[in-house]
Amino acid sequence: MESVFIVVGILVIFFVVVQKRFLKQDELKDNHYKRKGPLLNAKESAFYNALIAAVGHHGVVMSKVNMANVLAPVSTEKKQWFIANNRIAKSYFDYVVCDPRTMEVRVAIELDNGKELDKGKLERQKLLLHVCKSANIPLIGTNIKHSYQVGRLRRLLAAHIDLIEPDKEVRFCKRCGSPMTIKIAYQGEHKGRRFFTCSRQPHCTYTENYNVVFEDDE
Ligand SMILES: [Zn+2]
Repeated sequence: MESVFIVVGILVIFFVVVQKRFLKQDELKDNHYKRKGPLLNAKESAFYNALIAAVGHHGVVMSKVNMANVLAPVSTEKKQWFIANNRIAKSYFDYVVCDPRTMEVRVAIELDNGKELDKGKLERQKLLLHVCKSANIPLIGTNIKHSYQVGRLRRLLAAHIDLIEPDKEVRFCKRCGSPMTIKIAYQGEHKGRRFFTCSRQPHCTYTENYNVVFEDDE
C-alpha cells in the first residue's frame, strides 16, 4: 500500500515539474514579432487587380489560400491520410476564384513568377497539377508577362466559371467557315465548362475550347 502512495507521489511531482518547465517555454511574452510587409508583392498585386477586374461581382478572388483549406485527403487509413495532408499543409494556391454565394472554389490560378525552373519550383508544379487533377479543380497557369489583359483573363475564366458572362464573341468554324455557337459540356472530363461548336452540327463536328484564343495568343 505504501509503495502505491510513493508511486503516486512521484508521478505528481513529475507532472508538476514537467508542466512548470513546459509553461515557462511556452510563455508568449518571450516571443516578439514584426510585420513581414505587404501580403502580395508588386507583381502579385498587379495580377490580383487584373483578376478582380476580370471577375467583377461574379466571383470572389482570394490569394495565398492554404491547400489544406481547400482540399482534404480521401484516404480513410489514418497514416496515409496524415502523409497526404502533410504534403499539402505547407503549400498554398496563388489565387482561387470562388462562387460568391457559396464560397466554393471554382478555379485555381498559378502565377508563374518568371524565375528559373529549379527543384523547388518543379516540385510545386508537380504537386499543383496532381492535387487539381485529383480533386477536379480547374487550374489555370499564367505568367506575369501576359497577366494584365483583363479581357483575356475574362475569356480564360469564362471556360471554368459559369457565373461570368462571356464577352460577346463571334467565332467561325475552322473547317467549314460557319458561325460557331457556345455550348456547355454535359458529360466527360470537362463537364460544366463552355466550348464552341459548329452551328452546322451534326453535318460538321468541329469544336473548340473556349480558351483557345488565349492559347493562340501565347
Ligand atoms: Zn463547321
